[in-house]
Amino acid sequence: MFINIHTHRKPSPLDEYVVRNAFGIKLKSNKPLGYFVSTGIHPWQVKQDNSEVFKNIEANLHLINVIAVGECGLDRVHGPEMKIQTEIFLRHIELANKFNKPLILHLVKTYSDILSYASAIKTPWIIHGFKGNLNEATTLISKGASLSFGPRLTFLPELQNIFKLLPIEHIYLETDTKPIHIKEMYEFTCKLLRIPLEQLKDSIKLNFERDFSVVLPIV
Ligand SMILES: [Zn+2]
Repeated sequence: MFINIHTHRKPSPLDEYVVRNAFGIKLKSNKPLGYFVSTGIHPWQVKQDNSEVFKNIEANLHLINVIAVGECGLDRVHGPEMKIQTEIFLRHIELANKFNKPLILHLVKTYSDILSYASAIKTPWIIHGFKGNLNEATTLISKGASLSFGPRLTFLPELQNIFKLLPIEHIYLETDTKPIHIKEMYEFTCKLLRIPLEQLKDSIKLNFERDFSVVLPIV
């Protein structure tokens, strides 16, 4: 089995564990869905009044399928002003701490900003779609972050050079909104790191079990 740490779709085909982003939509069912869910307000969707959405998110966080808070975060390119984004982001940190669930973060031009909040985060935190430089990557990892890489890894040589230098204990892979199979990300990464597929599967599985306090039945 492959692990897709951040996507907006259901598993397809059923040989991957996915963490599907449900935004702040209220989830009805507490029965097993066959996939994991994260819940939170995307920075682009932050409004002046977010109280109803926070009610949904808090209700969602009681459900067994919901294993993470997010994607949430800070975006300097899109979305409302940083002041309101920061306020909403801090509430997500509080929720992650309260429910003891990891954060899945959307950060755009805010890798240095997040360092001010790192000590407030008491759960694992994963930066999805990482696209920074080596200094940012190593600094973030030293503060406790894990980094998730999406399809852009396959076509950006400079990102590939950074990736090769990072500790595999802090790495995840994702498809995000792209219509590809996570298997393609794994196969590309194995070639890049010159390691067998089983080794990469084992490593990411261990990371996932450590950060999400779950034990997955199948590799
Ligand atoms: Zn996303």
